[in-house]
Amino acid sequence: MSNATHDDETLGELDALYLRRAIALSAEARRRGNRPFGAVIADAHGRVLAEASNRNGESGDCTAHAEVNALRLAGPLHGREVLAGATMYASGEPCVMCAGAIFWSGIRRVVFGIDAVSLRRFRGAVGRQQDLELSCRQVFEASPQRFVVHGPCLLEEAAAPHEGAWET
Ligand SMILES: [Zn+2]
Repeated sequence: MSNATHDDETLGELDALYLRRAIALSAEARRRGNRPFGAVIADAHGRVLAEASNRNGESGDCTAHAEVNALRLAGPLHGREVLAGATMYASGEPCVMCAGAIFWSGIRRVVFGIDAVSLRRFRGAVGRQQDLELSCRQVFEASPQRFVVHGPCLLEEAAAPHEGAWET
């Protein structure tokens, strides 16, 4: 995974800290019966604005992805100027819905753990577990604003909570 190595090198100390927190949240989500995804939003000064995990299983809400849940917490509390300087840390590469939500939030920097292609190895061949084969970068490239995206990062750590999590 040469990409992972490359992007790991671009991570700052706080980036690694918050991505690891998002990964820890992904493991927590799994323990509570959800798909293993977590997200942390931090502002330009490294202050955490929100953190959340996937709640699909608990809530029955198919939109309850970690990134969307974190945005729903951060949005009402912080202005768009704050979010414009913020970073979304996601344990897994944001899906098309979450990439769209990140676009609408004004957040323009994303750091993610396991990439969508690697995730598909865990999702297996079960139809309802298949995702839309569009990377978050393709969504962001369609934006009139410039995004900075780092990922996959800490791939092995980010993949660990997915081991055996997609068999049902
Ligand atoms: Zn999503």
